[in-house]
Amino acid sequence: SKRLQGKVVVMTAAGQGIGRACAVRMAAEGARVIATDINADSVAELNAIDGIEARVLNVLDANAITELATDIGAVDVLFNCAGIVHAGDILHTPEDDWDMAFALNAKAQYRMIRAFLPAMLTNGGGSIINMSSVAGPVTGPANRLAYSASKAAVAGMTRAIATDYVTQGIRCNSICPGTVDSPSLHQRLKDTGDYEGALSAFVARQPMGRIGQPHEIAALVAYLASDESGFTTGQEHIIDGGWTA
Ligand code: NAD
Repeated sequence: SKRLQGKVVVMTAAGQGIGRACAVRMAAEGARVIATDINADSVAELNAIDGIEARVLNVLDANAITELATDIGAVDVLFNCAGIVHAGDILHTPEDDWDMAFALNAKAQYRMIRAFLPAMLTNGGGSIINMSSVAGPVTGPANRLAYSASKAAVAGMTRAIATDYVTQGIRCNSICPGTVDSPSLHQRLKDTGDYEGALSAFVARQPMGRIGQPHEIAALVAYLASDESGFTTGQEHIIDGGWTA
């Protein structure tokens, strides 16, 4: 039988990039994937895929999160994928950027977990996967102050949850990708005003000579969602093509 047969997954930011690849992969592995995103067009596209039930969810909307959790009930896997990248060193990071980075990258995960964990506990456990990054927990790339700080918060929250619920069947891990090909990456490259130069700089720090592909991150997420990863909890799972080796 398939690796995720019988598992119910709920995830955020499934509309494009890494999230989309993860939704598609977990559905292909047999899971029932409740895939959410703020973008109604991508939700409509996701709905056409076998095994995926897509719904609109803005992870900044606390009430929408509680309503979704009440509606869905127990899940086996919660994958918090939503995140945003702000550019800037500390002197070029206004409080609005700092607040938005923490709201979307960290607090939304806290809310999702608070909403879904009680039913997971009643159900006997499950796997929580939180999107972090190598930026923050592992390395400090230039010009990523708010992003790195908020992604390090994710890694810390993940470890705390792992410890607090380890005897109750809950595993909680963070994933720390390096640079991965996605629509927002291309936008960030364009925003520098020198797309080719910025892309070369990202590739230059990759010992493998290339950036990652979303399906490569999806393989890690599928593993953490499955029972094959039953002995790992509370860790940062680094997947960066050797960038921080
Ligand atoms: P992306 O940035 O291209 O897409 C983000 C998705 O999030 C979109 O579908 C968007 O509609 C959705 N979204 C935005 N705001 C939302 C909200 N308020 N509520 C719900 N959904 C919302 O995708 P990506 O680059 O693959 O990034 C996905 C995650 O992976 C992020 O947390 C990002 O920080 C993390 N990550 C990305 C990279 C990379 O290089 N691409 C590296 C490390 C970590």
